[in-house]
Amino acid sequence: MKPESWLKVTPRGLYCEPGDFYIDPHRPVGRAVVTHGHGDHARPGNRAVLATPETLAIMRKRYGVEAGGKLDEARYGERREIGGVSLRFLPAGHVLGSAQVVLEWQGCRIVVSGDYKRRPDPTCAPFEVCPCDVFVTEATFGLPVFRHPPDSEEIAKLLTAQAQFPERAILVGVYALGKAQRVIALLRRAGYQRPLYIHGALQGLCDLYRDFGVELGELRPATGAAKKALAGEIVLAPPSSLTDRWSRRLPDPLPAMASGWMRVRARARQRGAELPLILSDHADWDELTQTIREVGAPEVWVTHGNEEALVHYANSLGLRGRALALIGRGDEGGEEEQGGVQEELET
Ligand SMILES: [Zn+2]
Ligand SMILES: [Zn+2]
Repeated sequence: MKPESWLKVTPRGLYCEPGDFYIDPHRPVGRAVVTHGHGDHARPGNRAVLATPETLAIMRKRYGVEAGGKLDEARYGERREIGGVSLRFLPAGHVLGSAQVVLEWQGCRIVVSGDYKRRPDPTCAPFEVCPCDVFVTEATFGLPVFRHPPDSEEIAKLLTAQAQFPERAILVGVYALGKAQRVIALLRRAGYQRPLYIHGALQGLCDLYRDFGVELGELRPATGAAKKALAGEIVLAPPSSLTDRWSRRLPDPLPAMASGWMRVRARARQRGAELPLILSDHADWDELTQTIREVGAPEVWVTHGNEEALVHYANSLGLRGRALALIGRGDEGGEEEQGGVQEELET
């Protein structure tokens, strides 16, 4: 039986017919399987949700009782049977709790990777390669021009600016889920031990990461701190804070922004980022193509971004490539790269 006959593209999202569930549905459904907590994947109001414990905790924090009717958690590797379909989660390396969904039915294995990256991230479990018959991949940075530099180089830029401007606050725009905690953890890993100041909108998810054992060092609220005390310090805040009134409380702030899109100069200007830091939680072109080769699937379905180039790449390897036109996904790669839902909810 063809894989597209049991895992279907519908207006609500990817639908597994024999199991009667949707993966990351963008409208409320009876049974949702959610890959991770970003707002373009985890939406409120489903009657039942299956996700990792971390993702459910994130959804509870963001949506409260609206997180879903029945919340069912499955740890990485734990097997579930739903209507004869076997399902398990594997780490996707994207943000805390992010998962690939491994589906098996009648001898066919489909892996829906959700959002993922391959480079090490101290705040979440690394992506696990799972050989399969069909690999469903994101393509946020699915063009050969997108090659993210090493994280250490970007963090070094930030530390250089901090050392260079003792009179200024270095204001780093970060999305609340994933990017904030990763930038903090990377700074710690680079040996930065001073307190980090954070916008109130980042507090809740930083606390949650800590509850799951992610070390972030000393964090202090930026709101309420004396203006003078913030000179020479690193302050993290949602991207919109770079240009809004909030930043006026900081001494001569130097606006920085951590995002994969900072590769594109126009985007950095648009954000008002004088110090663009190319730090992405999405796979770049090399990571995408490496992953397609490693999973060895004869069929690759591409969604969530620049689909055509990756479909073409799959074809060039002799694989069947298919662009999935899923609606409800940002064509620029989800809220964590775009801003949007998350920021509004957390601010
Ligand atoms: Zn995401
Ligand atoms: Zn996404």
